[in-house]
Amino acid sequence: MNQQVQEVYEEVLRRNPNEPEFHQAVHEVLTSLSPVIDRQPEFAEYALLDRLVEPERQILFRVPWVDDSGKVQVNRGYRIEFNSVLGPYKGGLRFHHSVNRNIIKFLGFEQIFKNALTGQGIGGGKGGSDFDPHGKTDNEIMRFCQAFMTELSRHIGDKTDVPAGDIGVGAREIGYLFGQYRRLTNRYETGVLTGKGLDWGGSLARTEATGYGTVMFAQNMLADRGMDLEGMTVAVSGAGNVAIYAIEKAQQFGAKPVTFSDSSGWVYDKDGIDLDLLKEIKEVKRGRVADYVAQRPTAELHTDGSLWSVPCDVALPCATQNELHEDDARTLVANGCKVVAEGANMPCTPEAIDIFQEASVLYAPGKAANAGGVAVSALEMQQNASRARWTFDQVEESLALIMKDIHDTCLATADEFGSPGDYVLGANAAGFVRVAKAMRAQGV
Ligand code: GLU
Repeated sequence: MNQQVQEVYEEVLRRNPNEPEFHQAVHEVLTSLSPVIDRQPEFAEYALLDRLVEPERQILFRVPWVDDSGKVQVNRGYRIEFNSVLGPYKGGLRFHHSVNRNIIKFLGFEQIFKNALTGQGIGGGKGGSDFDPHGKTDNEIMRFCQAFMTELSRHIGDKTDVPAGDIGVGAREIGYLFGQYRRLTNRYETGVLTGKGLDWGGSLARTEATGYGTVMFAQNMLADRGMDLEGMTVAVSGAGNVAIYAIEKAQQFGAKPVTFSDSSGWVYDKDGIDLDLLKEIKEVKRGRVADYVAQRPTAELHTDGSLWSVPCDVALPCATQNELHEDDARTLVANGCKVVAEGANMPCTPEAIDIFQEASVLYAPGKAANAGGVAVSALEMQQNASRARWTFDQVEESLALIMKDIHDTCLATADEFGSPGDYVLGANAAGFVRVAKAMRAQGV
């Protein structure tokens, strides 16, 4: 890090104590920006970096709701509106017991660059709650979503801030959230949330977009080196929306995904994942990975050890932050893994990333590889604004073009700043340059 960038980072540490994931995300971006600032010092003028690392607005609120036994529960809600220079704040809502201000800030910060990379007019934001959806009834989920939106509704709007889903927030939750927004505001403002149901303003292929996009990105990385996903073994972590549709797209490309996981364990299916069974268990029955093994003789359930010990050509971490560690990276390298593309946000630790890069494994950070989700959210906003409805193929074609463009932009930017093949530098620098130019143009 150059001196100027180092000073910005030190101020981030001082001003945001006890926020390790936020520090990690900022550190990675600022490290990549050093060569950019060295070459173009004007990008550090007008306190541009200092402004970039400070959210424009941070909203913290109480979410009181009544559980099925009649007891009042209290959770905390967050919406971090990080940067609106390219468009309305855009980013998901995460409902998970691990959510705190640090987690939402790291996600919101990443979202700025990810959204810039998509080329769409969307700023960066993120929100959520420490509410734990596990074991809650459908009625409890509905009451929680309604209580959450009762406060959130004051802060969002189709031209202000447009939330979507993330971990723990899928189509069901977006439905309850949208219904409450509509009741409170007396406005059918479809563009206020994305990831909506297909009958009321949602976009075809939004559900699939993050997982599909991650695999398209991996395919672009391989194609650049004259390789192809066809016939490759793929290790996937997670069993949510991102993992399921990464598995689907990998299968469509002729690859063989063999793993997935949730908080109860991980599964290795040597014959390749039975996707219909996995969808039935996760999307219809909201079950656990053990239910898959009970119905599939070729699959093994593991409750210890690491999923990344399974030999693979391509690794797609699609679960959560810091899930893939140094030791896992060493094992993957030793087993001949060629590509790592992040479907989740920041799933690889900084030490793991160093190992991939030293071993010349093709490594794509989440802000590039998983940008397909938010990119299709922006396409959903376009459809809402024009009251249009695109076909699945139209959306998927646009997604493929966007992922190819992000891939090519990352590589071209990495070349420009003297680190050929470095997707981390490429993604951070390309995202930053777009945001920084707009911030300069719009003044302080
Ligand atoms: N939560 C997703 C992400 O991490 C999607 C956000 C959105 O569609 O707004 O990018």
